Amino acid sequence: MAGVGRRRRAARVALMPLPFQGHITPMLQLAGALHARGLAVTVLHTAFNAPDPTRHPGLSFVSVPDAIADAVAATANGGADRVAAMNAAVEAPGLAEGVRDALASLMRLGEEEGGEPRLACLVIDATLTAAQKAASGLGLPTLVLHTCSAACFRLFGSYDMLYDKGYLPAQESNLLLPVKELPPLQVRDLFDPSKLPNKEIGLKLLNLASETTASSSGAIFNTFGALEAQELEIIRNELAAKRIPIFAIGPLHKLTSIDGKGTSLLNQDCTCIEWLDTQESGCVLYVSFGSVVNVTLDQFTEIAWGLANSGKPFLWVVRPGLVLGVEKPELPEGFECAVEGRGKVIEWAPQQEVLAHSAISGFWTHNGWNSTLEGIFEGVPMLSKPHIGDQLVTGRYVEDRWKIGILLEGVLERGKIEKAITMLMEGKDGMEIRERAKDMKEKAQLCRESSGSSQQAVDNLVDRILSFSGISSFYSNGV
Ligand code: UDP
Repeated sequence: MAGVGRRRRAARVALMPLPFQGHITPMLQLAGALHARGLAVTVLHTAFNAPDPTRHPGLSFVSVPDAIADAVAATANGGADRVAAMNAAVEAPGLAEGVRDALASLMRLGEEEGGEPRLACLVIDATLTAAQKAASGLGLPTLVLHTCSAACFRLFGSYDMLYDKGYLPAQESNLLLPVKELPPLQVRDLFDPSKLPNKEIGLKLLNLASETTASSSGAIFNTFGALEAQELEIIRNELAAKRIPIFAIGPLHKLTSIDGKGTSLLNQDCTCIEWLDTQESGCVLYVSFGSVVNVTLDQFTEIAWGLANSGKPFLWVVRPGLVLGVEKPELPEGFECAVEGRGKVIEWAPQQEVLAHSAISGFWTHNGWNSTLEGIFEGVPMLSKPHIGDQLVTGRYVEDRWKIGILLEGVLERGKIEKAITMLMEGKDGMEIRERAKDMKEKAQLCRESSGSSQQAVDNLVDRILSFSGISSFYSNGV
C-alpha cells in the first residue's frame, strides 16, 4: 500500500472503542490496519482514558463528552458493579448526543464537493448500543468489533439456554458438569449473573454483544480461523441467516503497524528488556494480570511466595491498583531478598516485546483476550488464572481445547502455585504443552501472511466498508 498516504483516500471510517485498555488496544489496531489499506480513519473517544493522538499521526481523533470517570470513581471495588456503572455512563444521553454530533459533522464534511472522503460507517465496540443508535439515527451503517473470543461471544448469547436447561444458577453439585452445547466449557467456567446483586442488569450487559451484532452490518472478531474454526463456523451460519457477514481478522496486533507502545495507557517500563537480556534463554516466567483485574492482599501474598518458592526466574507486573484498596502494594517482607537476581517486579511492561523475548518460557496470565492472543502468537505456554467473565472461557480453552497451558483452579495458594509453575516450566506435561504452543504459533503466523485467512478477512472487511459508499471492490479494482 505504498503511496496511499499521498492519494485521496477512498472513504472514511469512524471507530469508537469502549474506553478501557483491553478494548482501546484492538480498536486502535484495527484503525491502523484500515488506514494502511487506504481508508481515512477517525477515532471517536471519551475524555476518560483518551488515546494520545500524537502517537498516531495518520489517524484523526474526535473527543465526545462523557461522565465515565465519575462512574468509575464511585465503584472503587471494580468487578461487575463497575461494569454496570460504566455501561450506564456510556449509555447516557450526553455521550450519545456527542457521538451523533461528531458523526453528523463527519458526514457533512464528506458531502462537500472535493472535500473530505465520505463517511462510510461507524465501527463500534460490541457494548456500545447508544453509539450504534446514534449512527442508525443518521442512516449510517455500523460494524461491531468483538474484543473477546468467538467462544465468548457464543457463551454470552446463550444465557437463556443456560437457564432453560438448568446449568444456571450454578450449584455446588453441578460445577464440573460439561455444558454439552458449548464444549469444552463446564458449569464452573460460566460467569453466573445469579450471583450478582442485580441479576437482570448482569443479563442485560451479557446480551449487549448479541444486541449490537443483530443490528449491525457486519461482525469483526479479533481471532483467527485455525484457533476457533468451529466457533466461527457456527457464528457465521447463524449470522448468515440475518445477512450479517463476519470477519475473523486476528491476531490484530500482528495485522497492524500500531505497536504496544502506541496503544498503552500506562507508561511501559522498558528496563525489563535489558534485564531479560541478562537472563538465560527460555527460562523466565512472565506474570501479568492485565489492566483491570484486582487481587486481595492475601492472594497477592500467596502469588509472591509461590513465585519465590518456585526457584524460577520471573518478571512480574504489579500495576498500581492491582491489589484491592491499595494504590501501591508493598511486597511481603523477605521477598526481595529471597528472589534477588532472579526476580524483577515492575509496574507495567512492554508486554508484546516481553513475550517475544527469547528469555521468556512461560506466561502466567489472567487470560484477557489481548494477552492470550499475544502469548499464542509468540508460542509461549501459559499458566492460566482467569478471574471473571470471558477470561474463564479462555482459561478452559487454553487447557482443554488448545492444550497450550495449565489452568490454575480454585483458591490461590503458594504450594499449588509453585507446583503448577514447576509443571509448566520443566515437567513432561510442560514439554508437550510447549510443543503444542509452538504449533499454534506457526498457525497464527500463517494466517497473517498475504494469502492467510486473516489478511483476506481484512481485505473483505475493507470491501464491505467501501460498499457502504457505493464503491464495489477496492482490491479487485487493483487500487
Ligand atoms: N499490557 C501491557 N503491559 C502490561 C500488561 C498488559 O502493555 O504490563 C497490555 C497487553 O499487552 C494487552 C493489554 O494490556 O494488550 C491487556 O489487555 P487484555 O485483554 O489482555 O486484558 P484486560 O486488561 O482487558 O483485562
